[in-house]
Amino acid sequence: MSTATPANLLEFDLDGLAAFCERLGEKRFRATQLFRWIHQRGADDFGQMSDLAKSLRGKLEGCATVRALPVVAQHMSQDGTIKWLFDVGAGDAVEAVFIPEDDRGTLCISSQAGCAVGCRFCSTGHQGFSRNLTTGEILAQLWFAEHFLRRHLGTAERVVSNVVMMGMGEPLQNYAALVPALRVMLDDHGYGLSRRRVTVSTSGVVPMIDRLAQDCPVALAVSLHAPGDALRDKLVPLNRKYPLDELMAACQRYLAHAPRDFITFEYCMLDGVNDQPEHARELIALVERHRTQGVWCKFNLIPFNPFPASGLKRSGAPQVAAFARLLADAGIVTTVRKTRGDDIDAACGQLAGDVKDRTRVAQRIALQRQVPLQPAGGLAAGG
Ligand code: SAH
Ligand code: SF4
Repeated sequence: MSTATPANLLEFDLDGLAAFCERLGEKRFRATQLFRWIHQRGADDFGQMSDLAKSLRGKLEGCATVRALPVVAQHMSQDGTIKWLFDVGAGDAVEAVFIPEDDRGTLCISSQAGCAVGCRFCSTGHQGFSRNLTTGEILAQLWFAEHFLRRHLGTAERVVSNVVMMGMGEPLQNYAALVPALRVMLDDHGYGLSRRRVTVSTSGVVPMIDRLAQDCPVALAVSLHAPGDALRDKLVPLNRKYPLDELMAACQRYLAHAPRDFITFEYCMLDGVNDQPEHARELIALVERHRTQGVWCKFNLIPFNPFPASGLKRSGAPQVAAFARLLADAGIVTTVRKTRGDDIDAACGQLAGDVKDRTRVAQRIALQRQVPLQPAGGLAAGG
């Protein structure tokens, strides 16, 4: 038996797994079988994989593993949203959030422990950057959630229908790990998700938007938050490197490859900062200036989720409605995001993965014991 650390098979897309199996002297179809066991059936024990030759199972036991992330805490919101906190070692933790709706199940996952972009209004940004997640750590969130939920609901059917890279971190600053993870999500032998139902959200890493268009085009959401460079420089510091006109041009280029014919712009509504009628008018002018086709973008207005130390306030509902109306009257499709899971700090921008604060983790674990998950079938109805 080898003394080297066993390879974690969650790290591989199908080509990577085929190359790994080839090194063991196995054919590609064996890799496909193994891949399906792992991702479609949630198996982590080679002994379970009954249609794999005994000799292969024996080889795998010596040099490979399917290693998920330890779950530090699990919370369920009144509205059915579930948040998991995963330990990624060295005091870091990341969060994933499952949001059940009538017609879909969306999983929001993290790409980094912390984030280096440092947006003013984001709790992850305030925490600073710790490290990139590996492909296996990104996928472990989906692997765990999908198979946990299937067991919990007593179903063999797929539960997660949509994935959004909107948890902690800037996915396009962890590009090398992101792309193989996306490929596994899309692979028919993996999770088989449609490109339209996998969304990468970015604060605007322009060169990587172009690369994603070539390597793995999926739905794109861009976190805009300001209609002009002066304000965006302050709210999203990455804007100093990639200003709005460059970002808009990259969005236009992306559209030629995207699975959807529009880009979603996210806009976090901050009281008195970016929510005034003049901001809406400037935004409309920005969209017009870059228009090359009829409808090319949609706006998603996000009510700001406050956290201690942000020093910012959520815009009032009338302010949000007035802003949405101005955009809509100019022919821009605009929605206001419903806040989900805010009673368990699972709403956008509240994900801080604060595993270093042991007291808080202990409280969370205690809470989890008091609020066990509902029996099968109770999920969509909410807690
Ligand atoms: N780094 C990527 C993806 C993660 S953030 C990005 O910035 O797009 C996911 C979304 O949550 C982004 O649109 C982000 O702007 C938004 N967000 C961050 N902090 C927030 C907060 N406190 N309230 C509401 N939305 C927030
Ligand atoms: Fe990073 Fe996105 Fe938060 Fe900005 S909003 S700090 S890019 S996670």
